[in-house]
Amino acid sequence: MKRFKLGFLIGIVSVCFLAMGAMAPNTVSAKVTFVTIGTGGVTGVYYPTGGAISKIVNKKSKQYHLKVTVESTGGSVFNVNAIMAGDLEFGIVESSRQYQAWHGEKEWAKKGPQKALRSICSFHPESVTIVAGDDTGINTFMDLKGKHINIGNPGSGQRGEAIDMLTQAGIDWKKDIKAEGMKAVESAQMLQDGRIDAFFYTVGHPNGSIKEATAGKRKVHFVPVPDSIIMPLVKKHSYFAKAFIPIKFYPGASNKSDVPTIAVKATFCTSKKVPAWIVYDITKEIFDNLETFKKLHPAFGVLTKQNMLTGLTAPIHPGALKYYKESGLIKYIPKSLIK
Ligand code: GLU
Repeated sequence: MKRFKLGFLIGIVSVCFLAMGAMAPNTVSAKVTFVTIGTGGVTGVYYPTGGAISKIVNKKSKQYHLKVTVESTGGSVFNVNAIMAGDLEFGIVESSRQYQAWHGEKEWAKKGPQKALRSICSFHPESVTIVAGDDTGINTFMDLKGKHINIGNPGSGQRGEAIDMLTQAGIDWKKDIKAEGMKAVESAQMLQDGRIDAFFYTVGHPNGSIKEATAGKRKVHFVPVPDSIIMPLVKKHSYFAKAFIPIKFYPGASNKSDVPTIAVKATFCTSKKVPAWIVYDITKEIFDNLETFKKLHPAFGVLTKQNMLTGLTAPIHPGALKYYKESGLIKYIPKSLIK
């Protein structure tokens, strides 16, 4: 009984310290706050992006009393839902999925707009990458009809883009193809083993999954998306843009030139419940050390402070906003994102 009481007392005291830490981190010097970033499969680009953020911020762990950890997850949709549930503090989310969550569309049609979602910044562009076996007879997008295709797990971003594009082409993904719902990390091996004909993956380039898929025994290629599918989708949705997959990264693929497709952006999201000081410190470390950050993954080569403020839909978190005001970057932020 006594032991129980003592344990209870220690518990109460630590809860008080936790609360104090949440309010004023610098007054409780010994306490470190842990936050987690939800990413994607380990062979994608979200996972190393989370790694890059944590590396940059954790260098200052002692100063900030903050430690960033990274979790491999099912992708964009999973990350939004985990942030909203309070299971994750941060997540990397496709710009398309951020838009849909904020407006209560697609996966969020029943739940409604995710009003607690907040944006911080964006990172690399991601293109819808369709990889098919050379021996499958899939040469054009329309050839996907009747084939066995991994369109992605339900928590992923790519599943939404795959369904949008197939629907735009008049292909019913439930009836006209044999659709798999596996994680992207499985796709390369499944394609190489002949267990699927093709897969969709919305991802930055270069990345490990596509390298693995194009470097095996089975010869594979990227399926080009025709303008007849790209243009109506780009017109309909502000988060889509036309883009090309640079084949220089994948010498094993059979394509001879860069491949047209649709692109979105990887964005950095959080919840309005995450304290401003945490979001401020992380934003500041990313932007103040952008040149170092960019060296951490080749997909970051195109990043500039200005283009990292595009592709956002949810209001900017107050902690990030504080940094953008201080640094003068606020002039690049649309008024609609400042709430
Ligand atoms: N875009 C993918 C998704 O939202 C993840 C890509 C990656 O992990 O780099 O699920």
